Amino acid sequence: MNAGMRPPALVLNADFRPLSYFPLSLWSWQDSIKAVFLDRVTIISEYDEMVSSPSMKMPLPSVIALKEYIPQNRHPAFTRFNVFLRDKFTCQYCDHALPAGDLTFDHVIPRSRGGRSRWDNVVAACSPCNLKKANKMPAQCNMHPLTRPQVPTVWQLQENGRAFPPHYLHHSWRDYLYCDSELLAQ
Ligand SMILES: [Zn+2]
Repeated sequence: MNAGMRPPALVLNADFRPLSYFPLSLWSWQDSIKAVFLDRVTIISEYDEMVSSPSMKMPLPSVIALKEYIPQNRHPAFTRFNVFLRDKFTCQYCDHALPAGDLTFDHVIPRSRGGRSRWDNVVAACSPCNLKKANKMPAQCNMHPLTRPQVPTVWQLQENGRAFPPHYLHHSWRDYLYCDSELLAQ
């Protein structure tokens, strides 16, 4: 049997919300089973597939919830990924949505003019806009971010992450991820 082919479990916090939407919090089947045996999680939903060892046989968990609530950090880490997520993977100058690999990190007040690498001075930008803006001040080139950059809350990032459903969604996960029927239809 190819153990690697077994599907992962969606992991919910104790409040039944995913630990993370984007990337979606998934645990391998091995980690999920281990957590079940350590009594750290409740099984919410199961796959049809069974896992067995000489001493036990059980259905593979498809959705599990932590028994102990993990508090979410109120202040998300300042990372490239989180900046892109805050800006919804959209260039803040021309409004084009792009894959993370095609986005760059633009300093609104250029570093050469004392601009800091902080939430309130960094935005997602496509390469052409980044090149065009270069080390000019926003007023000099009339390029202002569409949304004034600010420190996001974890909740905002989670909300933005919900707009990017994963490529694979098991039907048992959906109840815990989206309540928007249009999103389910995609
Ligand atoms: Zn652009």
